[in-house]
Amino acid sequence: MRRASRLKMASAYLADPEMKSLAAGLPAAELFPIARLSGSVLMPKSEPERSSGSWKGDGLLTETVMFDKDKQSTQRGSTKYDLSKALQYEQGSGARQLLSFLKEHTKHIHNPKFLDWDCTMSGGNMQAIETIFRMLVTAGDYVIMEEFVFPETADCLRPMRCKPLPIPIDEFGIRVDLLEEVLSSWDFTTRGAKRPTVIYTVPTGQNPTGVTMNVARRRDLYAMACKYDMIIIEDDPYYFLQMPKYQRNRENWISVPKSNKDFLESLVPSMLSFDVEGRVLRLDSCSKVVAPGTRCGWITGSNQFIERILRHNEVSLQAPSGLSMAVLHGLLVDCWGQDNYLNWLVNLRAEYTIRRNAILDAMEDYLPKDIVSWVPPTAGMFVWMELDYEKHPLKEELSIEALEYKIYEESVVNKVLILPGGWFKSSEFSRPRGMYFRATFASVSQDIMRLAIQEFAQIVKVSYKK
Ligand code: PLP
Repeated sequence: MRRASRLKMASAYLADPEMKSLAAGLPAAELFPIARLSGSVLMPKSEPERSSGSWKGDGLLTETVMFDKDKQSTQRGSTKYDLSKALQYEQGSGARQLLSFLKEHTKHIHNPKFLDWDCTMSGGNMQAIETIFRMLVTAGDYVIMEEFVFPETADCLRPMRCKPLPIPIDEFGIRVDLLEEVLSSWDFTTRGAKRPTVIYTVPTGQNPTGVTMNVARRRDLYAMACKYDMIIIEDDPYYFLQMPKYQRNRENWISVPKSNKDFLESLVPSMLSFDVEGRVLRLDSCSKVVAPGTRCGWITGSNQFIERILRHNEVSLQAPSGLSMAVLHGLLVDCWGQDNYLNWLVNLRAEYTIRRNAILDAMEDYLPKDIVSWVPPTAGMFVWMELDYEKHPLKEELSIEALEYKIYEESVVNKVLILPGGWFKSSEFSRPRGMYFRATFASVSQDIMRLAIQEFAQIVKVSYKK
C-alpha cells in the first residue's frame, strides 16, 4: 500500500516564512531561466452580448486581455500563482490556486451531496483513468464498459491483466437491464473471476457513439451500482458540449441560452450530482473545453479515493506541468473568473452545435438512407453511422469486420478518413452486432466536412453495387 510522501509532507512547512529550510530538494527559483510568462486571452461573449438568444457562427469575441506572470507577481499582488511557484515542484494534487478554482466550479455545477468530497488535478482524463484502474482493480478482474469505447481505455487494462466486460448501448446509453442480467447471474466458476466492482462509462456524447445517457438511465445505473456495491468512473470530457436537438429545417441561426443559469439548467445532471454514497469518481478534462495540449484535468470523488490518487501521483505524475497550470491559471483565474468561464462554455457549445448541424445536414443530403442509419447526437464531437450489412452483396464472403475494414480502406484511397466501428470495440472477443463508422465534426471546416460526407456516400453506394 502506498504511503504519503514524507518529502511532500515536509515541504508543507515551507509556507511558513520564518522557516529556515535546509530540507527540500527544490532548485533555486532565481535560477529558473524563464523570467516572464504572459498570454493573450480571448474574451467570450458575455450574457448581455448574446441576449438576442441567437448565434450565427459569428465566433468568440476577438477582444483579448492579457495575463502576465513573473517570479515576483504574487508579492506584488497581481496574481496568486506566479512563476516562482509554477516553475517549482508542486504537490501531487496540483497547484492549490488553480485547484480551488476548479473545485468552486465543480461545486457550482455538480454540487456533490456527500460531505467528504474533494478534487485533485490529473494529467487529463486518460492519465486519470489509468490511475483509477490501478487503484480499483486487481489481475483477473472484469471492468464493466460500454460495448464501444475510446480504445485507450480498454487497452490500459491489458497490462493489468484485467478485461473489459462490454454492455450493449442504445440511444439512451448503457443498457442497465442487460447489465443487471450480467450481475445477477454472475457465477465465479464459469466466469473465472469475481463479480465486477467497477463501471467505466462516458455518459455524455460518448466516444465513439455520440450517445448521451438520459437522466433516467443515469439514475438506473447509479441504483445498480448501489445495489451491487460498485464504483462508477464517470469519464465526462464532453459534458459542456450538450446541444439542442438537431432539426433539419431551421433558420440559419441557432438559439443560445440567454443566461448561464438557463445553460446549466439545460444540461443533463451528472451522476456525481446525485451520488449520496461516494461511489462516483468523476473525471473532467481541460482537453475539450480549453485545449488538449494543456494535459490537465481533475478528478472529483470521495476523499478516501482522492487521497489514494494523490499518493499515486506522488510516485508517477508528481503534478501536472507547472507551465501548463500557469497558463490555465492565467486564463481561468487572472483573466476570466467563474462567470466568464461559463460564458466561454456557452459560446463553445454554440460553435460545436453549428458544426454538428453541418455534418448532419450533409449526411441527410448525401447518404443513402436505405443503407446508412444514425441517431443525431445531442452532445460531444462524434456521429456514429450503421451500414446495413445484410444488404451488402459481399455479405456471404466477408465478415462484418472484414467488410467494415474494406470500406474503410476504400475511403482512405479516396482521401476520406472515417474510422471503422470495430476499432472501438471494448472487448476484442465480442461478436460485432453491426457495421459501424465514426465521424467527427469537431476539427475540419464545414466545407471539407460536407465534401467528405459526399464522397463517403459515393464510396458506400459503389460498394453496395458490387
Ligand atoms: N475519455 C474519452 C471518452 C475521450 O474521448 C478522450 C479523448 O478523446 C479521453 C478520455 C482522453 O482525454 P484527455 O485528453 O483528457 O486525456
